[in-house]
Amino acid sequence: MKILLGTHVSISGGLKNACLSAKNTGSNAIQIFTKSQLRWQAKEPDLNEASSFRQCTAGQKLTVAAHLSYLVNLGSTDEIIKEKSIEGITAEIKRCGLLGIKYLIFHPGSNKNLTEKETIKQIAFNLNIVMQKTAEFKNVILALETTAGQGNQIGYKLEHIAKIFELAGYAERLGVCIDTCHIFAAGYDIRTLADYNEFMENFDKIIGIKKLCAVHLNDSLKPLGSKVDRHAPIGKGYIGRDAFRFIVNDGRLKNIPLIVETPGGDKEHKIDLDIVKNMINK
Ligand SMILES: [Zn+2]
Ligand SMILES: [Zn+2]
Repeated sequence: MKILLGTHVSISGGLKNACLSAKNTGSNAIQIFTKSQLRWQAKEPDLNEASSFRQCTAGQKLTVAAHLSYLVNLGSTDEIIKEKSIEGITAEIKRCGLLGIKYLIFHPGSNKNLTEKETIKQIAFNLNIVMQKTAEFKNVILALETTAGQGNQIGYKLEHIAKIFELAGYAERLGVCIDTCHIFAAGYDIRTLADYNEFMENFDKIIGIKKLCAVHLNDSLKPLGSKVDRHAPIGKGYIGRDAFRFIVNDGRLKNIPLIVETPGGDKEHKIDLDIVKNMINK
């Protein structure tokens, strides 16, 4: 079984460093921030830099996902934040298109002044606008990430994401990223094979396994159902090692990028990546 396995890598010092980190960590799938995740502004990517990024990722046969800035909140009803969020994700989709990035992963959004049902509607409404504005970049799949449910975050139930798909339209351009730490903190247990399989079957029933674009491999510093999003190194949190063994040997996840997003840089990520690589049944 071909397995796409890698880590989140930094682009500090330039996009080319992502390819270097992929080599250093032994990744054939990576996730990057295409710009600083803590700022709204981003300069247009340099065409030469973009083309050499596409070359090095193609040369190394890398599957690349991008993670959207955490500032973007499609659940917002504040005119300024809403506007900036729509602009921010639109620009990001274009950057992904230019860089040949297949998946853009983002948290659905939140709104402390609305009910969950209203927030879900707001997210779908804004997402629809974004997809209308980016019709020529429909090759970039927008992957909504499951969340821990911290604060007023939508996405801690699979049903939230299914509802957004139903309301937003353009379903063929939408996908899902499962984060193991987030689903566990949200209350989905995956520590035994039976529980893991139950979760995956539920996912298939509620969203559809065909919609799965990526899995973030993170252990959880906080217990089951804590609703707190704190990543831990693989095997060093409340999830423990077994769940990761089920994932890397799950035939349903063939060709789905599995991305380590644990604390630290290349050095720490390689340790976590090697742990999960060693779990793959020969
Ligand atoms: Zn994640
Ligand atoms: Zn997280």
